Amino acid sequence: MRLATAEINLAALAHNLAQVKGFAPNSKVMAVLKANAYGHGLVTIAQHLNNADAFAVARIDEGLALRAGGLTKPIVLLEGFFNKADLPILLANNFQTIIHDEYQLAALEKAKLDAPITCWLKVNTGMHRLGIAPEQFEAFYSRLQKTPNAKNTVNLMTHFSCADDIDNAKTVQQITLFDNLVNGIDQAHCLSNSAGIIAWPSGHGDWVRPGLMLYGVSPMANSIGQQHKLKPVMRLTTRVIAVRDVPANEAVGYGGRWKSDKPTKLAVVAMGYGDGYPRHAKEGTPVIIGKQRYGIVGSVAMDMISVDIGANEHNIKVGDRVTMWGPDLPVEEIALCAGTIPYELLCNITPRVSYEYQR
Ligand SMILES: *Cc1c(COP(=O)(O)O)cnc(C)c1O
Repeated sequence: MRLATAEINLAALAHNLAQVKGFAPNSKVMAVLKANAYGHGLVTIAQHLNNADAFAVARIDEGLALRAGGLTKPIVLLEGFFNKADLPILLANNFQTIIHDEYQLAALEKAKLDAPITCWLKVNTGMHRLGIAPEQFEAFYSRLQKTPNAKNTVNLMTHFSCADDIDNAKTVQQITLFDNLVNGIDQAHCLSNSAGIIAWPSGHGDWVRPGLMLYGVSPMANSIGQQHKLKPVMRLTTRVIAVRDVPANEAVGYGGRWKSDKPTKLAVVAMGYGDGYPRHAKEGTPVIIGKQRYGIVGSVAMDMISVDIGANEHNIKVGDRVTMWGPDLPVEEIALCAGTIPYELLCNITPRVSYEYQR
């Protein structure tokens, strides 16, 4: 009997990629696969994104894992490289790099390479994380065009800080700043993450960079994937491993944090923070057993969680399947109950969890 299992719906993944193309029909797609494809399994997810034009990852090792898995599409490193010794690895593996800082440009200029590398010049338009200042743009762009170590086509990128909030004027300011800066430069432009794709069509550009929405989850505040015609890809499940009666006023679990004021029944389910379930999920966070929702009680432990199923519940038994999140229990809702965002829940899935890929 498998306990903690991430069931991955590959048809939903394909549907979501088609949705990306529906939102941004004139843009190429670099599918963002960092952090183990947001916890969905890097190589298998990549193998089922045939219609993507490229992949994007955060770290060189993630790109190498894709190559080791036999994937041949271009791979963009969203943080670029970190020192000169990385450059031959980039070249040998057909990795494209972001250039976001002087140290990278200087290393690239100094390197002795057999062939040029495809570069994406990243401009900070207001996120203030990575990227060169707009005032530095001309100097960086012309140095990249001059060095024989960079391909002549220097692609241009920026990143939004507030695109999940449709009432925030920041995104339009970022798009305008970027457009004015790169105006008339005939190179590929890339601005939008998932939220940009869904909410800011004027920021679609030549390439888009969807991450979260590929997995069927909403990047927009206060909404779920289905409201954007996305289909959740992951169902996180486990099994009931005990059903017990507890009397009124008996403290349950570590720290005795919870008591029932009347006699009740608890289902103990094999899922905990050792599987990536959030320890801070508050009392009452829903799970589904059978077709019904029940709330968790007490502390989330490493391996187990107690669920209050009520004194009158007689049908739930050991071995019953439990959904922790999935199409009928949005991970967005669980994230709210745990004071976090769905991104974190998905990529926190630990290696102990089994993966079941469903076509
Ligand atoms: C992670 C990331 C993305 C994807 O963001 P989502 O919100 O998951 O779509 C896009 N661009 C950059 C630079 C990123 O770091």
